[in-house]
Order: sequence, then structure tokens, then C-alpha cells
Amino acid sequence: MIEVTLLGTGSPIPDPDRAGPSTLARAGDHTFLIDCGRGVLQRLAAVGSGANQLSALLLTHLHSDHIADLGDVIITRWVSSFAPEPAPLPIIGPPGTADVVDAMLRAFGHDIGYRIARHADLPGPPRVEVHEYTDAVVWDRGGVQIRVGPTDHRPVTPTIAFRIEHGGASVVAAGDTVPCPGLDALAAGAGALIHTAIRKDLIAMLPQQRIRDICGYHSSVQEAAATATRAGVGILILTHYVPAIAAGTEDDWRALAASVFDRQIELGDDLHRVEVHPGVCARSRS
Ligand SMILES: [Zn+2]
Ligand SMILES: [Zn+2]
Repeated sequence: MIEVTLLGTGSPIPDPDRAGPSTLARAGDHTFLIDCGRGVLQRLAAVGSGANQLSALLLTHLHSDHIADLGDVIITRWVSSFAPEPAPLPIIGPPGTADVVDAMLRAFGHDIGYRIARHADLPGPPRVEVHEYTDAVVWDRGGVQIRVGPTDHRPVTPTIAFRIEHGGASVVAAGDTVPCPGLDALAAGAGALIHTAIRKDLIAMLPQQRIRDICGYHSSVQEAAATATRAGVGILILTHYVPAIAAGTEDDWRALAASVFDRQIELGDDLHRVEVHPGVCARSRS
């Protein structure tokens, strides 16, 4: 079984009730954080986990909303890990990830220096291990395999999705993307597809061109659902709602997805949890 928790279902727009884009996937003894938007560590604490318990951080792309709390993840893991010193945090993302991580460590250079000066048991700066991929098997240990495939979020490029396999269960985590052959191939036959979604019907009515621009490089609810149908997945898990799902309108979102995908559809608030079992059989709980 792979357990998926939507830690943050928000978007770049600050929302009092939704943290930034971030999803937790637990498989066996492994805990993977997919993207690390605003407030991620508060949500991680809410499910009894923390930065020092992550097996790896997986980044779909380098848009600010998806990496807003990268520095918090790195620094908090470092200061909250005690002897024995943990292995370096694997950070797996698209090309460009190493630049971003290096810059983040430089940004926190003063802080890192202060803490090393104060605490004799901190032997050195945070240890990370960055891997950049667009199409490869990126993890194969502890009975968990992770494969990366390309998505299409141009002009943001390259962008990737992750397919996590464990004990016959499989989950694909797509970041922001329009429908594309790379995601179709990666998601084919998966137990669940986690997909970001926007309401193009609502966004198209907004007066600001800059906001309407986002329609060109994201999937609508129906497009995400159509991808799930083409790939034949068992469960569609929608997240990253733009605009945020207004109270009482959850069923409208669900109906839009159901118009093109006739299997299980999951969406909801932060901390919504879905169990993905081998095959397409699944149970869920909020
Ligand atoms: Zn994006
Ligand atoms: Zn985004």
C-alpha cells in the first residue's frame, strides 16, 4: 500500500486554509515529500512526520510555489537531526535543481555559520545530495522504485513527474502540466494519479491578463481527468486548486472530473489522505 496525503492543496495565492503545493507519499519504511510549498513543515507535523524523517525530497519543477519552503526543509532537517548524523537528504528534481539548492544554502550561509559556531555536535553544514533527471529510474531501494518522466509546463522546462511503485501499488505524482505524451506514458496503468488542476472556466472570467495567462500551461479539471482516463488509472487525486475550492463547491469540481473519468476521484482540504492499494482497488479517508 502507498499512502498519499495532500499536505498542501493551495497555489501561489496565499490562502488562510491551504498550504502551498506539497504531497506526502509513504511506501513501506520510506517517506517521500513531493514539492515543498509554503507551510509544508506545519502540515508535515500535523501527520506526525518531520523534515528529519524524509527519505527523499522530489521536486516536479522549480516554480516558486512548489519550492517556497525548500530552505525550511533543508535547515530544519539539519537542526532537528541528532546523532547518528543522518545520510545526506536526496533531492531529486529536474535540471536546475542543483543551482536552486546551492543558492538556498548560500542564502542561509549566515544562519548555518551561527549554528555551527554555537553547537559543537553540528559537524558541518546541511548535507544534501542533488540528482537531476528528466527520464530515468531514480530510486530502487527498500522495495520502492521511482521512475521519472517528462511533463509539459512550458515555458517552465524541463518539468517532471514521479511514478512510485511499492508492493504492487503505484502512484504517479504530476506537478503542473498540460496533457502530454510523457505523462500519459508514465501514468499508464497506475493505481493513482495525483494531478494539479485549475478551473479554466472561472479563471477565464477574471480581468487580469497575468492570471488568465496561467490557463496556457496548466491542466483544467477536465484535462487532468482525461489524462487519468487515457492512462487507465484507478484513482484521480486532484490538488493545487486555482482558484481555491470555495465552500460548498467541492461537488462542482468532482462533477467536472467525473464527466470524463468514471473511477474514484479524490479532492479536498489539506491533509486529505488516500490509500492506494495494489491494482485499482482503493479506500480513502479524509
Ligand atoms: Zn508551475
Ligand atoms: Zn504550481
